[in-house]
Amino acid sequence: MKKFEGKTVLVTGAGRGIGRAVAVAFAREGANVVINFAGREESAKETVALCEAEGAKAICVKADVSKEEDCKKLLEETHAAFGEVSVLVNNAGITRDKLLIGLTEEDFMSVLEVNLKGTYLCTKLAVKDMMKKRSGRIINLSSVVGVHGNAGQSNYAASKAGVIGFTKSVAKEFASRGITVNAVAPGMIETDMTDAIPEAMHEAMLNQIPLKRIGTPEDIANGVLFLASDEASYITGQVITIDGGLMG
Ligand code: NAP
Repeated sequence: MKKFEGKTVLVTGAGRGIGRAVAVAFAREGANVVINFAGREESAKETVALCEAEGAKAICVKADVSKEEDCKKLLEETHAAFGEVSVLVNNAGITRDKLLIGLTEEDFMSVLEVNLKGTYLCTKLAVKDMMKKRSGRIINLSSVVGVHGNAGQSNYAASKAGVIGFTKSVAKEFASRGITVNAVAPGMIETDMTDAIPEAMHEAMLNQIPLKRIGTPEDIANGVLFLASDEASYITGQVITIDGGLMG
């Protein structure tokens, strides 16, 4: 019996990067996977195909997690395909990196809207399914930047610190219903998001990682699957750092 056989797992922003690795890892363990994406449909369809290649059922749904109507539609399509959500992974995220002096209100708010408000909206909707069943798992993607800060990322850091506060609060609210809520804080992971970092800075960051390699999306997926597993049933309100030792 696979670990997540028959369970419905909703992963936001799963068309590529970390979300894709999370979706495929759940598929490998027998879950029915819902792959949310924002705009890149071809990429999301590739994730569906990768999940199906693992023998799982999967669909992709276009929805902007910062919009309530889109999130409602995302949940409706999830219910229609696979029934109630057992595991929600709030992974969708964006960056708009700039030093504060050049950071516009739009730069600031757009990152907050997707990374933090998106997490709030999806959690509020999916947790209703979990309350009915008196069980569920919610895993939110934060970042080491949300704990330690980073020059040029005040908007992103604020959103990811917000995700930690949100995680810890919601964990307390739903613990009595058998629902756990945790966060994962990745360090530097090889995805489109980090591709934009200039080569010299990339090299400098690599030198600071004790394990001497950039993380892979699969490194993060392993942590997410653990938090969603039965083995993690006594863990809630926590932030697990997966960064190769970067932040010590
Ligand atoms: P990525 O490669 O840039 O992929 C981002 C995903 O989010 C894409 O599937 C994208 O959809 C989706 N997305 C963006 N805006 C969205 C919206 N408004 N609604 C729904 N989906 C949306 O990012 P990643 O590196 O895999 O990062 C995944 C998560 O890990 C993010 O929360 C990020 O902050 C966090 N994280 C990443 C790193 C890292 O080093 N990569 C480090 C720490 C934390 P489309 O494909 O349709 O555009």
